[in-house]
This record gives sequence, structure tokens and C-alpha cells, in this order.
Amino acid sequence: MRDPIDLLRSNLEKQFRLYTDQLTELTAYSRQPGRGGYDRDTLTALTGSARQSLADTAQALQRMAEGSYGRCERCTGDIPLERLEILPHARFCVPCQRQQTG
Ligand SMILES: [Zn+2]
Repeated sequence: MRDPIDLLRSNLEKQFRLYTDQLTELTAYSRQPGRGGYDRDTLTALTGSARQSLADTAQALQRMAEGSYGRCERCTGDIPLERLEILPHARFCVPCQRQQTG
């Protein structure tokens, strides 16, 4: 059986490239007079979220290298694999995530 971490790592690497491309594209748009058809606020919001996602993904890859990947940063419990498959850069387990945002 394959180690699920291998799959998650390749998902994260894919995600990392995707957000990098997205950010490059959005940055290019912001320098164009027509901003690629986006209004200023939308472009700012998209750039911010792409940058955040890129940082989250980079941190997840870092945690994977350090061996702390898949551990909740709040309660230090294991984040269930099903959650990591949906959200490979998750930093918290579901209950902790709810408390963070709620
Ligand atoms: Zn937790």
C-alpha cells in the first residue's frame, strides 16, 4: 500500500505551483491598465487570497519536511486523513478550526 503522505505531498506540490502561477498572473494584471478585466478591489482580494494560500501550502510542505505535518497546531491531536485529503494544508483539526473562525 502506498503511503498516503506521498499523495498529500504531491497534492501540496501541485497546489504550490498552481498558486504561484495564479499570483504571477494576478501581479501581471495589476500592472496592466485594464487589470485583466478585474476591478481593483476584486484583484486585491484575489491576490491576497492567492498569497495566503501559497504561504499555507509552503508551510504545510515545511511541516512535512520536519515531520510535524498532520498534527493540529492547537490541540496537537492528529488531523484526520480525510480532512487532509480535502484540505492538504490544514493546520487545525475540525473542532479547533471551528473555534478559530467562530
Ligand atoms: Zn485540534
